[in-house]
Amino acid sequence: MLIDFHFHAFTDKIAVRAMEKLTATCGVPAFTDGRLSSALQCFDRWGVDRGVLLPIATKPSQQRIINDWAAENDGGRVISFGTVHPDSEDLFEEMHRVKEMGLHGFKLHPEYQGFFINEPRLDPMFSELECIGLPVTVHAGLDPISPEVTYCMPEPASEMIKRHPKLRIILAHMGGNEYWQESLDHICGLDGEVYIDTAYSLYVPDELMLKMIRKHGADRVLFASDCPWQSAELMFRKIDALPLTDDEKEKIFFRNALALLGESKSTTV
Ligand SMILES: [Zn+2]
Repeated sequence: MLIDFHFHAFTDKIAVRAMEKLTATCGVPAFTDGRLSSALQCFDRWGVDRGVLLPIATKPSQQRIINDWAAENDGGRVISFGTVHPDSEDLFEEMHRVKEMGLHGFKLHPEYQGFFINEPRLDPMFSELECIGLPVTVHAGLDPISPEVTYCMPEPASEMIKRHPKLRIILAHMGGNEYWQESLDHICGLDGEVYIDTAYSLYVPDELMLKMIRKHGADRVLFASDCPWQSAELMFRKIDALPLTDDEKEKIFFRNALALLGESKSTTV
């Protein structure tokens, strides 16, 4: 089984516009047209069984609509997370609504939502997320929307995490896109339910990737592509070629995901 813990899709209505904008920002061609159906077609080609949909509310006013859409599309091969915007007036209410609707976690994106990971003003939000108990995926490291300033760097992320020891957090992109050495130093090995995902990590040198997995432990690494921006098939091949045990690979490819989603006992593989 293969679970992709990090992919993106948009409502059919905004998909084309969103992809035009994002492709121009990222400077890399996309594998999908932005629609969910297009991502599922990629999953078929790549051998991905299920994927975690990570929507992002870039404005407070969007969060309810996006979460309703995520909930509508949850099920089957799609495991939907919700999103909240830290500046929204109904932040706490919406965090609880996400849980009540049965969504499986939260996605936060510092660059697109205008916050630095270690800002004290966010402590109440992270404390509430600790109580809610759902996993929270945070974009970490460089994002092409803001090449000069990176909002979630490994060291400040580690400081925030130490203040919130019960937070079930997934730092995307091996803990910090392009800042892999910093992630190895400050994130890998950090105590708690701290995960890293492999989204958009095809460029991480194999040796460094192995070091990161070894230091952090294969039971806290989640397979992910960042579809539509990278291919899950290539990501699978990269990890499969690393000198890890079969048990470690199984954990990364799907077992950790099932455990984190609370499905490990009910699912036969
Ligand atoms: Zn992403």
